[in-house]
Amino acid sequence: MSDTYRELNPPVRLLLGPGPSNVDPRVLRAMSAPLLGHLDPEFVKIMDESKRLLQYTFQTENYLTLPVSATGSAGMEAALCNMIEPGDTALVCVSGVFGERMCDIVERCQGKLLRVDAEWGHVVQPEEVEAVLKQNQVKVVAIVHAETSTGAHQPLGDIGRLAHEHDALFLVDTVTSLGGCPVKVDEWHLDVVYSGTQKCLSCPPGLAPITFGPRAVKALEARKTKVQSWYLDMTMVQRYWSQERFYHHTAPISMNYAFREALRLVHEEGLEARWERHQLNHRALLAGLQAMGIQPFAQEGHRLPSLNSVRIPEGVNDARVRSRLLLDFGIEIGGGLGKVKGQIWRIGLMGYNATRKTVLTFLSALEPILRSEGARFEAGAALPAAEKVYG
Ligand SMILES: *Cc1c(COP(=O)(O)O)cnc(C)c1O
Repeated sequence: MSDTYRELNPPVRLLLGPGPSNVDPRVLRAMSAPLLGHLDPEFVKIMDESKRLLQYTFQTENYLTLPVSATGSAGMEAALCNMIEPGDTALVCVSGVFGERMCDIVERCQGKLLRVDAEWGHVVQPEEVEAVLKQNQVKVVAIVHAETSTGAHQPLGDIGRLAHEHDALFLVDTVTSLGGCPVKVDEWHLDVVYSGTQKCLSCPPGLAPITFGPRAVKALEARKTKVQSWYLDMTMVQRYWSQERFYHHTAPISMNYAFREALRLVHEEGLEARWERHQLNHRALLAGLQAMGIQPFAQEGHRLPSLNSVRIPEGVNDARVRSRLLLDFGIEIGGGLGKVKGQIWRIGLMGYNATRKTVLTFLSALEPILRSEGARFEAGAALPAAEKVYG
């Protein structure tokens, strides 16, 4: 073979899609540190520190709190397959792609699937969940807190309370909310919660933080059958992350370095400040977009700060705009998935990218592209509208 391969040299992008988001240079530096053995006392110390930082980030005292060694979808799978035994009933709230994915996993676990659907862009209503809970013996109520496919921000309080009143576990996907908006596991009595690293935690993709509360641990201990997945069986993974350090699999060392540094950044900034930062930049972005005639897609009052879904203006070519953003400006945004493909854009302002500089850069890049697409709006109005929010 005479092929030659050049050294890897990917272009620098501004990642404003549904994830991954850009990461702080500190996180990249941490990843290039020398490898340790995965049972080395120095690595064990890193595991312990990461676990404490993760408990802070999840706002929980749960001892069963750790990063699963795989992406967010593995967190989803771990949460569901540890809680659902064949024949158990799970009620899944569906308002987008990730709710659908949960349904698929419940069926693969041979669970009995019940679902409550909401229109895409809207949130699930507690009354509809209550109606199903009254008619059925449900073991798990599963819901997506931040539906990345639609930009909707699902309230958890009432549905969680109803789940507990009917003796069901409350299982929540926080992949696009953790580190970007409030997620208070203990205060909100959430039983099983998972996330991913590459969204608002601004760490590369590769780990799925997860936490199990006391009721979930009890359900795990009461299982009559083995967890279907060997790799995601929390009874075993937990033994590796506990003081026992029982060998289960080799932790991805460099990813765990990155994870610790990303969580250290969350801790340094403080959760409250981080949530406020996401809110502020979300408001500024929307103000700028609205000044260009672009309207939000998700239901008013339930819009995610971390994932801004907006309707593509009439007559504007979706693919051409996104490709020009990428090629001319190095900016990535997301298109619509599934039934909203071609109808919406998804603009992520996650973690490291939720800044004034990012918002102003993006608006400045989008304006000339939209104008050349024939969109009509007042020239130069976007930046002042965003600036007004910053005050
Ligand atoms: C991204 C995402 C996932 C899946 O995470 P991967 O890291 O892509 O496997 C699951 N749920 C939601 C809400 C997400 O946004």
